[in-house]
Amino acid sequence: MKITDKLAQAHKDDKAAASFSFEFFTPKTSQGVQNLYDRMDRMYHLNPLFIDITWNAGGRLSTLTSEMVHTTSTVLGLETCMHLTCTNMPLQLIDDALQKAYLSGCQNILALRGDPPLDGSESTGDFKYAKDLIRHIRAKFGNHFCIGVAGYPEGHPEEPDHAKTLSYLKQKQDEGADFVVTQLFYDVDNFIDWCARCRGAGITLPIIPGIMPISNYNAFLRRAKWNNVAVPQSFIDRLAPIKEDDSRVREEGCLLMAELCQTLLDSKHVNHLHFYTMNLEKSTTMLLDSLHLVSNQTKQDYECENSKPWRKSL
Ligand code: FAD
Repeated sequence: MKITDKLAQAHKDDKAAASFSFEFFTPKTSQGVQNLYDRMDRMYHLNPLFIDITWNAGGRLSTLTSEMVHTTSTVLGLETCMHLTCTNMPLQLIDDALQKAYLSGCQNILALRGDPPLDGSESTGDFKYAKDLIRHIRAKFGNHFCIGVAGYPEGHPEEPDHAKTLSYLKQKQDEGADFVVTQLFYDVDNFIDWCARCRGAGITLPIIPGIMPISNYNAFLRRAKWNNVAVPQSFIDRLAPIKEDDSRVREEGCLLMAELCQTLLDSKHVNHLHFYTMNLEKSTTMLLDSLHLVSNQTKQDYECENSKPWRKSL
């Protein structure tokens, strides 16, 4: 089923609780892949609306995404969104990936450009921007796929002019995109302001915030720097004094992110949260629990499945 239809169904009642989804990346080993299938299956009991599997251009990992999408869609029966990048991707590989997704019954693609080659060389792909990939998918598959795109509430590192970044997002909508998933962020006020600016710029697509749980202080700072996003002073004030104790960082990080998510939901700009799980279970599950997004029935089912009390599984 298409993500936009799932969102509409989940939120047809105004008072409906927030929905959520999980993103996973392709592991490097076959044992890692098997472990991840087990984890995806377990986490699906928490009732996400869908899961995403990321794309790595080139080598075994790109075909692995297609294989994993096939397994999650047809064997595990999980509603799956396949990421697809076009940097350094010949048209034939893009079409193969789309055809495999189509045959697997996958109806959701996150259409991305991908990061440029690290050595600074020009991409050898047929498409320059994500919008070109969207146009191609629409031309070839009509409305079969629901197409998501990336959004950048704090701008994209390659484009200093935020107004231009917003107009490029509008171009992706005009080419046929159906929803936006954002880059991770910690500055919630800026995010809410950006949502308003999107609407002002004529972007009407559902906006899904990308939520990165905090499980380790150094990893938290590294990811913020890597993705060029601001870290509010309140995060530093609350996490720095306990930075050596991962378990306390996870607890406090969970509180901080729960506050951020609640502010988002209260703003009414979003009703769905997309969790970057980093293929881990604990931090995301703790955050869902803090937000009261796991029903008592789901907790009971989870306890039966894992043979241990819910709190102990956190
Ligand atoms: P685009 O929208 O094409 O933008 C790329 C750059 O070009 C930007 O600087 C933009 O401002 C500029 N631009 C766009 N249109 C124009 C135009 N018409 N004229 C001039 N400049 C223009 N990467 C992966 O490799 N695999 C993944 O699975 C993956 N998943 C992601 C999921 C999410 C939710 C997000 C936010 C990012 C993800 N990425 C992934 C990273 C992404 O590929 C990079 O951020 C990449 O640098 C940009 O991709 P894009 O689709 O936003 O590109």
